[in-house]
Amino acid sequence: MAVEFDEEYDDELSTRDLIRRQQKLGASPLVVDRLTAMVLGNRLDDRLKGFSDRQIGQLLFDFCWAELYVDGPELSIVTQAMDRLRRSTGGAVTNEEAPVKQQPVCPKCGNGMFLHYGIDDLDFWLCDYVTCRHKEIRR
Ligand SMILES: [Zn+2]
Repeated sequence: MAVEFDEEYDDELSTRDLIRRQQKLGASPLVVDRLTAMVLGNRLDDRLKGFSDRQIGQLLFDFCWAELYVDGPELSIVTQAMDRLRRSTGGAVTNEEAPVKQQPVCPKCGNGMFLHYGIDDLDFWLCDYVTCRHKEIRR
């Protein structure tokens, strides 16, 4: 049986309940539940844009940190991000800051390209289309 979904009730859910509901629906074997989880995911994305960095750091701790393996590098990376967000005074994400605004189009296939900040190399744009993966160094 599909997990019940009521759109109006959904708007009244707290963010934590919305996240738990999306987790439950996303784990369901039914396609309709997983599609509903995607709808909830979009709604969650919209809500999170209005949150402060500290609130995002808290959600990272509450919902992601505990899921990581103690011996994995992911734990170190997420812990670092969490600690930095929790000390940040940054507020909601504005439309000007939204990464999609600065997303160039891939010259090879026309898909969107995502900015990757260099870790051991220069910053670069990477096409998100799996069979293309065109890469350009950021100028
Ligand atoms: Zn491409």
